[in-house]
Order: sequence, then C-alpha cells, then structure tokens
Amino acid sequence: MSDLRDLYQEVILDHNKHPRNFGALEQPTSSAEGYNPICGDHFRVSVELDGDTLRDVRFEGSGCAISTASASLMTDAIKGKTLREIKTLHSDFQKLVTAEPGAEHDPARLGKLVVMGGVCEYPMRVKCATLAWHTLKAAARAETKTVTTE
Ligand code: ZN
Repeated sequence: MSDLRDLYQEVILDHNKHPRNFGALEQPTSSAEGYNPICGDHFRVSVELDGDTLRDVRFEGSGCAISTASASLMTDAIKGKTLREIKTLHSDFQKLVTAEPGAEHDPARLGKLVVMGGVCEYPMRVKCATLAWHTLKAAARAETKTVTTE
C-alpha cells in the first residue's frame, strides 16, 4: 500500500471500495474491453451515446486500487458530456498523470480527477490510471478488439 502514499488516499480508496457506475448497462450503444497485462487490470466499459452526447456509462471487471478508482472517477466525470468535452478531459487527465511531480494543475478543469495527480510519481501506475480512458475511447468508437496498454 505504500504506493498509495500521497495519492489523495481517501478519495481513491473510497472509489476503489465503492466504485461508482459499476456493472453493465442495460442497453449500451457500444462497449469495449481493456487490459493492462503488467498489472492484470481488466475492464469492460459500456456507453450509451445519444448522437455526440454520453447519456450513460458503466464499467465492470477487476483491477488494482488505482485502476478501479480511476475508472470510477472517470465515469462520474464524463456522464452527460459530449465526446468533444470528454476528449479534452482525457487529454488533461493524461497530462496530469504524466506530469513532472509537483507540477501545478487546474482543479477547475479536472474537477475530482485531480486526486489521481500523485500517480505521476509512480510511472508503473500510469497505465493503471489511464486504462479506463483508453477503453472508453474504444467503446465510443465501437471498436471490438481488446484494448491493451502494451
Ligand atoms: Zn493496476
């Protein structure tokens, strides 16, 4: 658990223990599977799109605390947004977790996702933190091939 030190522990642990939007969607417009072989994180992300707007999103599967919390925080952050807004958020999130440790981030843009910022100090964990986002991207594009971080 020492990896989780300084990582906004409480929020992350809460989302890991009680993941939001966990499970399958009843009527997804599409879904995709993502796998991070280094850690063993394995998720399916289902989306319900209405044109360019994400009406609903859920995820299922299993992974480490970082990947589960990140998937949970992601689903909370993107629901109801347009694919364009989600793309911007994904790129901001990618910058957050790959930044130089100690870099300043704008919480107004990232919202609660900012709690994942500590991941940048643990390069091995970046793939855990970004797996759900890559899988979401594949789901939104209705790609059927499993996304892998390798
Ligand atoms: Zn992991």
